[in-house]
Amino acid sequence: MHHFAPRDGVLHAEAVSLETIAAEAGTPVYVYSTATLRRHYRVLRAACDARARPLGQPLIAFAVKACSNLSVLATLAAEGCGADTVSEGEIRRALAAGIPADRIIFSGVGKTDAELAFALDAGVRQINVESEVELDRLAAVAAGRGVRATLAIRVNPDVGAGGHAKITTGGAGDKFGVPVQEALALYARAAASPHLRPVGLACHIGSQIRDLAPLKAAFQVLRDMTLTLRARGMTVQRLDLGGGLAAPYAETDETPDVRAYVDMAAGVLEGLGVEAAFEPGRLLAANAGVLLSRVIQVNARSDGRRFLVLDAAMNDLMRPALYDAFHGLVPVRPRGGAEQAYDVVGPVCETGDTFARDRPLAPLQAGDLVAFTGAGAYGAVMAGEYNSRLLVPEVLVDGDRWAVVRPRPTYEQMLAAEPRAPWLTTS
Ligand SMILES: *Cc1c(COP(=O)(O)O)cnc(C)c1O
Repeated sequence: MHHFAPRDGVLHAEAVSLETIAAEAGTPVYVYSTATLRRHYRVLRAACDARARPLGQPLIAFAVKACSNLSVLATLAAEGCGADTVSEGEIRRALAAGIPADRIIFSGVGKTDAELAFALDAGVRQINVESEVELDRLAAVAAGRGVRATLAIRVNPDVGAGGHAKITTGGAGDKFGVPVQEALALYARAAASPHLRPVGLACHIGSQIRDLAPLKAAFQVLRDMTLTLRARGMTVQRLDLGGGLAAPYAETDETPDVRAYVDMAAGVLEGLGVEAAFEPGRLLAANAGVLLSRVIQVNARSDGRRFLVLDAAMNDLMRPALYDAFHGLVPVRPRGGAEQAYDVVGPVCETGDTFARDRPLAPLQAGDLVAFTGAGAYGAVMAGEYNSRLLVPEVLVDGDRWAVVRPRPTYEQMLAAEPRAPWLTTS
């Protein structure tokens, strides 16, 4: 469910025509829908409230890396959403967007000492520690500041899952988290340190997971570990269940059953008396955004291949090149006529700059607008300037209002960002 739909034959974001946005903000441009973000958050919140007892009023911490635009974060913050962060930059973004520190979780495989210090000073809710060496460094940083660091141990439950090998994180061979036996020992070590306060366990086994079974298996591992640690006299108050639930991309994809997911988690945690946390990224943001682009030209080749060349490229939306990801492509003002197969490409000098092959689409011409759907998560955040293309801007729509929430830089700004080495004089 999302709020991008045609009105009078033209695709709109809520009540705003994408033709208007393209005319005023230019293309390519990301467009986010406030109503969609809110709706997804509220569906998850309602499911959690319905199972508040086993889940202990769970924190919903949006995975900032999925879509870190400050206005998007502020929209979620206003709903009471927290943040799952993986860098000092993301913590700063969450704070700047108005997310209180006690709703910010700091995750990630490689946090520097400076980042750990920053997180402690900011007073984040908890730091999810992913290795023994990191635990030792955290203890040292906390000792240096005379504080006690609140932490969870991220467990690698040896349950890999996800829509693609590159987004699976919970397998034994993946770089994330601590294997179960080691994690138990590490927890005890943390509990014995005067500088550390272990409060719980965390897992995140992958992304774009459609099947609840691997998630359930991972949550069960956390449950068993909780009981083991308690039997050894330790306190375990929080279980961070990670993110990973799939978002719909193709029209035929099923809408995720958020209720079933939360009910499953509640079932596994029943009777433990812990406070749960969920860290959804894709689930909240994916179909709350589109990438709006204009057709530069259509190259019809003599071998029958028809290339739709867009002004958006892999540097603006990397998922197809990176993960062979599928994005729907919708004409903003569809023309009549039978569908034809197009290879949809961008102008970047890489064969990987191909969004889709043999995609059946209603006829399109130079100048037409198209929207990549499901582009709200892992879209703009991965954009870059490859081929010296200007960083793609972002727009937020709310009802009939809209605003540019990250402007496209000018070419002057792009060049000014690189001061010349002093020994290279301008001629
Ligand atoms: C990326 C990430 C998430 C969010 O994953 P989604 O698949 O977008 O829900 C949650 N937690 C951690 C630790 C992550 O790294």
